[in-house]
Amino acid sequence: MCAVTTNRFATLLADRAPVFDGGYGWLLQERGLPAGDCAELWNLQEPEKIAALHDEYAAAGASVLTTNTFGGTAPRLAMHGLEDHVEAVNRAGAAIAREVADRHGALVGGDLGPTGELFEPMGTLTPEQAQGLFEAQLRGLVAGGIDLVLIETMSDLAEARAAIAAARAVCPDLPIVATMSFDTNLRTMMGVRPADAALELAAAGADVVGANCGRGPEEMSVIAEQLVAARPEGVLVLTQSNAGLPQLEGAEFVYTVGPQALAEHARSLRDAGVDVVGACCGSSPEHIAAIRAAVTA
Ligand SMILES: [Zn+2]
Repeated sequence: MCAVTTNRFATLLADRAPVFDGGYGWLLQERGLPAGDCAELWNLQEPEKIAALHDEYAAAGASVLTTNTFGGTAPRLAMHGLEDHVEAVNRAGAAIAREVADRHGALVGGDLGPTGELFEPMGTLTPEQAQGLFEAQLRGLVAGGIDLVLIETMSDLAEARAAIAAARAVCPDLPIVATMSFDTNLRTMMGVRPADAALELAAAGADVVGANCGRGPEEMSVIAEQLVAARPEGVLVLTQSNAGLPQLEGAEFVYTVGPQALAEHARSLRDAGVDVVGACCGSSPEHIAAIRAAVTA
């Protein structure tokens, strides 16, 4: 018998297109969320607006819908006085995405973003505390019905590891996707290089490793090359580029990379060995529709 290692995410994705969804925060602001307000509170107060955006992404061809829970850990919710509602906010976010995903045959990725707290010795957060914060968030997400765990926009490997450990403790059967944001000279803000991220996140237990957000498609191409070269065998690579850096036009910031350009970029990433693509800030369902068409053509 030869041992065939199967990637849990690949098994779950099955014959769906390898396409995640795009940005949420900036679109929610366009749809009435005041800047600085708590996006996750809309899971409880404006669920139909979150569901509408999920529905648009699923209709555009996204196979994985990202729950509106990026800031769903207690320290982030505490900025809005909601630290006692971690379970409810996350369960509602997952349930909204679940209902939409089931109508489209899509999957739900339970989104974990950074806690916003600094680890020791720069801050006071310990790995055990961080894991506990992510576990509380995940209990809500699992109760709401997620299919996989999506850890994203991480800068600190210790925090990413804590999130992966939380997933392995709370929902050991769910695939884990972990991406970092390499937005500072091709490193994360904390100095992590793509190759080290690929190795360390995989070693911690991620089924899919990668990069999200960042400084736009050009840098993402360089980062993707390094991720693909370094990833261990059997581990998939995901990239979710933003639509460039926002440029000031008149009185407002606008993202300048349109759907077709981001789609051509996604196809070049796939040609370079990236397994799964999505998009981040500045992208919309139109971008995802173009990406879906480009990578499944
Ligand atoms: Zn982003």
